[in-house]
Amino acid sequence: MILNRAMECMDRESMRKLQSERLIETVKRCYEKVPFYRRKMDKMGIKPEDIRSIDDIHRLPFTTKHDLRDEYPFGLQAVPQSEVVRIHASSGTTGKPVVGTYTKNDLAMWAEGAARVMAASGVTKGDIVQVSYGYGLFTGGLGAHDAAGLLGAVQLPTSAGNSEKQIMLMKDFGSTVLCCTPSYALHLAEVIEKSETVKKEDLKLKVGFFGAEPWTEGMRKELQERLGIKAIDIYGLTEMCGPGVGGECEYQNGTHLWEDLFYPEIINPDTLEPCEPGEFGELVFTSLCKEAMPILRYRTRDLTRLIYDKCECGRTAVRMDRILGRSDDMMIIRGVNVFPSQIETCLTEFPAFTAQYFITVDRKNNEDTFDLDVELRSEYFSPNPSKQMPYIKPLYDRIVSMVGIKPNIHIKEPGAIQRSIGKAKHVNDKRKFQ
Ligand SMILES: [Zn+2]
Repeated sequence: MILNRAMECMDRESMRKLQSERLIETVKRCYEKVPFYRRKMDKMGIKPEDIRSIDDIHRLPFTTKHDLRDEYPFGLQAVPQSEVVRIHASSGTTGKPVVGTYTKNDLAMWAEGAARVMAASGVTKGDIVQVSYGYGLFTGGLGAHDAAGLLGAVQLPTSAGNSEKQIMLMKDFGSTVLCCTPSYALHLAEVIEKSETVKKEDLKLKVGFFGAEPWTEGMRKELQERLGIKAIDIYGLTEMCGPGVGGECEYQNGTHLWEDLFYPEIINPDTLEPCEPGEFGELVFTSLCKEAMPILRYRTRDLTRLIYDKCECGRTAVRMDRILGRSDDMMIIRGVNVFPSQIETCLTEFPAFTAQYFITVDRKNNEDTFDLDVELRSEYFSPNPSKQMPYIKPLYDRIVSMVGIKPNIHIKEPGAIQRSIGKAKHVNDKRKFQ
């Protein structure tokens, strides 16, 4: 189902016109209400009247995570505090978190963005939406919660963790929809497989909306098979609103971005110039409707490309390819760029392995080391190294051919790698502390 046909299927020319109107308005408000943007624009010699259409967006200043931290907590707010009805914050592990504030209209816009994604895969009244994202400052829980509410579905706010109970409720309440991080969904699949009281066949799950961390096609295949569902990617970031900036339609061929709400650009992260259409680069967003905290040209650090071909679903909203990785996640090991998602892709090609992995990078004798912990499934596992070798060799070869560096692979017992209930942590780069 298409929730907002007028916006999701608008012809390109009308969309450009709408984006232009909304950008002009946003820039004006930023300049008048947010000293940070006024300073930046004054420094560049740009006045709001210089922005006449969406084609002028390249003249505007960028906003970075660093800027958001500098302006912590409310420096980028464009409305009086009395207009704010909710505050979220990113799960920043170091220093101050990135804060997002919302007016009533902002929350409605966010809920619609996420609800468009759920509606595309048929979520409607009567569905039971189990929200196993963490509820709290993190946007995942309440984002999915409000979207389910907008569609008139049942909101089941289980939050993350307590996995045995999650699957018991999933069975007893007949949950039809699951929302969580892909890594937690995988963990729930494992808990179901081990359970004596809950079997996959007992569940009524149809579809899962997974986001908050980049994931791969291999992971999709795994989740779809093991949970018996359709696995849909939902995309978002606290700096824009949370999950619901875009999402996949039922064709699962790229993430539609809601361009009437957030204007996407792809830039070269080194030169900061726009990329050619279809070229890979860094994704940048400008909010077009946000009231509390409008953001100009936010550099997401996500590396991807935009696809403007028409989608079979009838939506004209641009599609974003799978995220190659966050430029922040990229490791340079022995001079080679490595993304954790590449390792995940290799791993999920081999059925003997679980999709769990952990990378440790270090430097010894002036040379980078690259250790990869992986798990064999219990039916393949043996503590005897000679029995592990037939599994290690093909994985090793695949990683060398895909990534270009040689890993030290360590086989762990099934279940030995730590599972996460929220965003997965896959890397320990010890070089950062030397
Ligand atoms: Zn589509």
